[in-house]
Amino acid sequence: MEYKGLGVTQRIAIGKVFRIVDAAPFDSNADSPQENEPKPGVFSPEREKEKLTAALEKSRRQIQDILQKMQAADPGNKNAGIIATQLGYFEDPAYNEDTIALIDGQGLSAVEAVRRMTRELCDTFNSFDDDPYMQGRSSDIADAGKRILNNLTGKITEIPQPLPSGTVIVAHDLIPSQTAQLDQEHVLGMVTETGNITSHTAIMARSMDIAAVVGCPDLMGEARDGDRIIVDAGKGLVLLRPDDAQIETYTGLQAEEEAARNTGETVKYHRIRRSNGREVLVAANIGNLRDARFAKEKGANGIGLFRTEFLFLGRSEMPDEHEQYEAYRQTAELFGKEPVSIRTLDVGGDKMLPYLRLPPEENPFLGMRAIRLCLRNPDIFRVQLRAILRASVYGNLRIMFPMICTREELKEAREILGECMSALTGAGIPFRKDIAVGMMIETPAAAIQAREFAKEVDFFSIGTNDLTQYTLAADRGNPLISGLYDGMNPAVQYLIKYSIEAARSTGIPSCLCGELAGDPRAIPVLAEYGLDEFSVAIDAIAGTKRILLSLDGFKTACLYY
Ligand code: PEP
Ligand code: MG
Repeated sequence: MEYKGLGVTQRIAIGKVFRIVDAAPFDSNADSPQENEPKPGVFSPEREKEKLTAALEKSRRQIQDILQKMQAADPGNKNAGIIATQLGYFEDPAYNEDTIALIDGQGLSAVEAVRRMTRELCDTFNSFDDDPYMQGRSSDIADAGKRILNNLTGKITEIPQPLPSGTVIVAHDLIPSQTAQLDQEHVLGMVTETGNITSHTAIMARSMDIAAVVGCPDLMGEARDGDRIIVDAGKGLVLLRPDDAQIETYTGLQAEEEAARNTGETVKYHRIRRSNGREVLVAANIGNLRDARFAKEKGANGIGLFRTEFLFLGRSEMPDEHEQYEAYRQTAELFGKEPVSIRTLDVGGDKMLPYLRLPPEENPFLGMRAIRLCLRNPDIFRVQLRAILRASVYGNLRIMFPMICTREELKEAREILGECMSALTGAGIPFRKDIAVGMMIETPAAAIQAREFAKEVDFFSIGTNDLTQYTLAADRGNPLISGLYDGMNPAVQYLIKYSIEAARSTGIPSCLCGELAGDPRAIPVLAEYGLDEFSVAIDAIAGTKRILLSLDGFKTACLYY
């Protein structure tokens, strides 16, 4: 039997049906008394309110539990944010005061009050006919509502663990907190009767890179547990109980798809995952918009380092806020959801700006460089921070401070950033208030304090070009001591490993954006330390991916999208 829906990914799955049956549908018309509902004559609003409070609390704990597990497996898990939004719903007045008002004012049971509240909120979001984003949010509310209902009625539909291998989940609707429990080792695909491609469940399926089709009606009535099923997500096609010829055809197609993923030709388009599910990004180092376009073409999973000083060099005056904003905005748009780390101005050392008229220094690499220069010249710094903040609404920008040595420097930089945010808010100019703020670990002082710094930033980016020269007291540009200048030196390696571990144990992602990230000697070692993001020169993207994919415990998660 053939069913047609909306394909969410490009994958093919051949597996066996496992049905998830909704325990307490909030959108059913079941107005008849339910289990655990009060019998007529013994209705007690106080008792119903107590039940509601307990169910909200239980729901909150369950979601926190799911979140903790997700973050333990992968601190950078983008899906965690989707699940976390639900905590907000449990505290939302709609579920508290308004639901209580329905119990008190209309004599509804807790179950009926939550059901009505959820239905009304979902209807409101669904009424944005031409806005799939708002409709997608309706499924978050449905998710929260169903969880509360399930906890009220005691009929919780958690996904059994572990699922049989080769499973294809079939459900009327799969809510994000259920999708979060699907383990990628055993689940090959999922098909739901409802949902659209922007729903969070679809977004999560995409990031898990399983064969997923949503909006495929009437399947639940026909499918039985253990039925053979083929999901061709690229075509949005589902074949229930396929015959032998169909299985043979699809086995061939699946092998072709697999081969395409693994040929050297397409390696640049691969996204990489560790066997524990954590994604490893291979991002690019760039200096301008042209590089950004090239990096995208070469398969970069984001930008790990935008050396913004290249926008400032080779000219007679500073780029103004608008010019900087345009460069950051267009890069952000180009990479969409992929992270783009904009490093704030790193001049000084070997990169001088004649129009700044700085006095000559005896040891410029140990002098007025990078963050030191910006903190001394807050007007220059503010222009750049404003440009980054304004561009932040167009993608997934991150701010990264270079050459941090002391916690005071970080604090001061953050204060100036805070002032820029307040000024933009005051002027009604939009920006992402939750923009990630990270720092480079490129001085021994920063690496040695990595555990403390990790608590104060959203990510680390290890700059081994400088970390090597400062650790070994070996000028990175001096050919006379080039033998000594080596990022594989045990002292440098110790600091790198320590910083990655500090990030991991604090739950923030670690990136490495020095040249070492693309060095074939270093890649397996950095992978072993647990590095999350390799940011390399554009022409090293494919090679770095190829080496990572050759390591034990690394595999292609999905083709680049
Ligand atoms: C580094 O120091 O490793 C780094 C990436 O920064 P830059 O090379 O621009 O100093
Ligand atoms: Mg550096």
